[in-house]
Order: sequence, then structure tokens, then C-alpha cells
Amino acid sequence: MATYKLFLAPGDGIGPEVMAEAEKVIAHFNAEGGARFETERGLVGGCAYDAHGASISEADMGRAKAADAVLFGAVGGPKWAGVPYEVRPEAGLLRLRKDLALYANLRPAVCYPALASASSLKAEVIEGLDIVIVRELTGGVYFGEPKEIIDLGNGQKRGIDTQVYDTFEIERIGRVAFDLARKRGNKVTSSEKHNVMKSGVLWKEVMTALHKREFPDVTLEHQLADALGMQLVRWPKQFDVIVTDNLFGDMLSDVAAMLTGSLGMLPSASLGDVDAKTGQRKALYEPVHGSAPDIAGTGAANPIAMIGSLAMCLRYSFGLGEQADRLEAAIASVLAQGLRTRDIAAAGEATISTSAMGNAIVGALKG
Ligand code: NAD
Repeated sequence: MATYKLFLAPGDGIGPEVMAEAEKVIAHFNAEGGARFETERGLVGGCAYDAHGASISEADMGRAKAADAVLFGAVGGPKWAGVPYEVRPEAGLLRLRKDLALYANLRPAVCYPALASASSLKAEVIEGLDIVIVRELTGGVYFGEPKEIIDLGNGQKRGIDTQVYDTFEIERIGRVAFDLARKRGNKVTSSEKHNVMKSGVLWKEVMTALHKREFPDVTLEHQLADALGMQLVRWPKQFDVIVTDNLFGDMLSDVAAMLTGSLGMLPSASLGDVDAKTGQRKALYEPVHGSAPDIAGTGAANPIAMIGSLAMCLRYSFGLGEQADRLEAAIASVLAQGLRTRDIAAAGEATISTSAMGNAIVGALKG
């Protein structure tokens, strides 16, 4: 039986609370016997600072690198507001992303039928929605040089950011998107602004050539990023996989995410290169939300984003699509039964706790 090594970094605030529910799901799959998961826990974030004076220790960094995948909770909170910048809680997560070279961020936007009425869009526009935004995460205008504010000496200053992409960066994010589309609806929409940006001209050229050379069986279309933003809120079901750069991806993935309701529902994956030895990609899976200090310790956190992140891990890191499908169906089924944590409950609706939601999902998995 295949054995998979998971490094668990629950982090701060509600991180440990939602991670505990994902661990119940892992225990269930271990008991089922289709695959074996070995877990190791580590400290990342404020909890690591409290223990070691660093937001992640070298030992935990080593464990994260040695694992088949990292499952991450959330970090940060007011307790660490005054700690030095280089050891602030978020630095641990950034270090993980950087050292694992996680250049592809995947954010699904899935609308569970039971929650369709919770969206700000009309139910018929988002019912059955199932799209993924693939955002380039380590390049583009957030990292390009020069990046500075210069004094022009005439009472004026100039702020400069540089949007820059090389062919290899566009090709590798393109491959992630095309590979993903092959496992889904077989369609990729590539988005940039080639009408006004040179990096957009290159992005479109490279995507087109990559498609022709390596993925001719996948449908490729191009949409300008501003038009795509409009289409996302007009008729999002036209998309399957959207691939775009760091800046446009940052904005478009937040728009797509909120189509489906609460932050507590949104999983994500960050992927790196395929390891030549194992054939697996470096990967980190985490809910989109933060440590929610306002509700930490109250049992009110929704664990679905965390459990959904585990489902992504099963599918993308371990090729366990059948288990991932069953886990997502279990989430859909508890929602269809009307079970709600506070963040997804309508006014006056009864709510259940974090652990009751986790138990219900495991119960639905058991069938
Ligand atoms: P947040 O995502 O923690 O919370 C925003 C709001 O959403 C809060 O009202 C919170 O109660 C609610 N919420 C979030 N997750 C929820 C869940 N699973 N169930 C129910 N409700 C949920 O964002 P914030 O308040 O801006 O940040 C709080 C802390 O988290 C800060 O220290 C911030 O730096 C950190 N943060 C960390 C990450 C990360 O670890 N990846 C991401 C974002 C923010």
C-alpha cells in the first residue's frame, strides 16, 4: 500500500482548530486502508516564534522539505504585532513558499448547491460553478526590479514597479494549467493585457506556442484580464481553468472566491516543480482564510476550507482522485443536510461547532 508523508503546520488562532478536523479525515482514510498517511506536526508562525524565536525552525523547514506535501493552517494574530519584521508569523509561510519554490497557486471556486443562495450573484449564475484560477506566484510585478521610490529633486517622487516575465516562467505555469485542465473540463483560458503590455504580448505568444507543441488536445482561449473580470461576475460557468500572472491572478482569484460565499469555505494549493526522484511536485495546501483571532478558541471556525485543502492534496499530490471526490461529496452532503457553522448560516438558522462539522463530514464519508 502506498504511504504518503504529510507535514502538518496548524499555526496560530483557528489554525489548530481546523487542522484537528482535517486530522480526523486523515485518520478515517488510514482506517479505511486504501492508502496510508504518516503525519508529522511542526510549528510555523507565532507559535514557532514563541517556541524558538523564529517563525519556522530549520528542523521544521527540513521536515517540510522531506514530506510529500505540506498541510498548512493559518498564522498570525495581535499577540505578535510587535515582533521584529523578519521573524513575524507570516515570514514562516513566505519562507515555506520560497524554499519549496511554489510558483503556481491554485484556487478553486466551487459552488455547493446548498449554498447557492448565499452568493451575492443570482443562484442560476453560480449554481454548479466549478472553476480553478491558476495564478503565477513568484514572478511578475510583485518581484520585478527595479522596484523603488526615487526622489526626482523637484518636489516630486516616482514610484516604480517592474512587470517582468521570462519564457520559462510562463511555460511552467502554463503546463500546470494545461495538466490540470486535462483532469477536469479540458479548457484553459489564458489572461493578460497584450493590448497595452509587452509582458502580455510575450505571455500570449508563449502560451499559444506551448499549447500547440504540448497540449493540442486541450481547448485554449485568450481573454484580456479586464474583460475576464467582467465575465467572471457575468457568467462564471463559461470557464474551467483560468491561468494568469501574479497581479491579475491576485485580483481575479479574490473575485472568483467571493462568488461562492464565506472565507471559511475556500481551499487552495501552491505547487512547485516536479521532483526528478519522486516524480511528485513540491506542494503546500492551505485554506485561503487567516487565523481569525476574533473567533479563535470559540469553536465557531468553519473547517471546510481546511478539509477542502486536504481534498486538493489527495487529488493533486497523491493522485487519489476517488478519495478526493468522496471527501468533497461528503462536504456537499452535510451542507445539503442543512448543517452550518456560524459563518455560512442564514440569520436565525441553527449552527454547529467546528468539531461537530468535522465529525459530520467524517460521518458522511463513512456513509
Ligand atoms: P481572517 O481570514 O483571519 O479573518 C477575516 C474574517 O473572516 C474574520 O471575521 C474571521 O472570523 C472570518 N473567518 C476567517 N476564517 C474563517 C473560518 N474558517 N470560519 C469562520 N469564519 C472565518 O483575516 P484577518 O482578520 O484579516 O487576519 C487575521 C490574522 O490572520 C492576521 O494576523 C493576518 O495577518 C493573518 N492572515 C494569515 C493568513 C495565512 O496564514 N495564510 C492569511 C490571511 C491573514
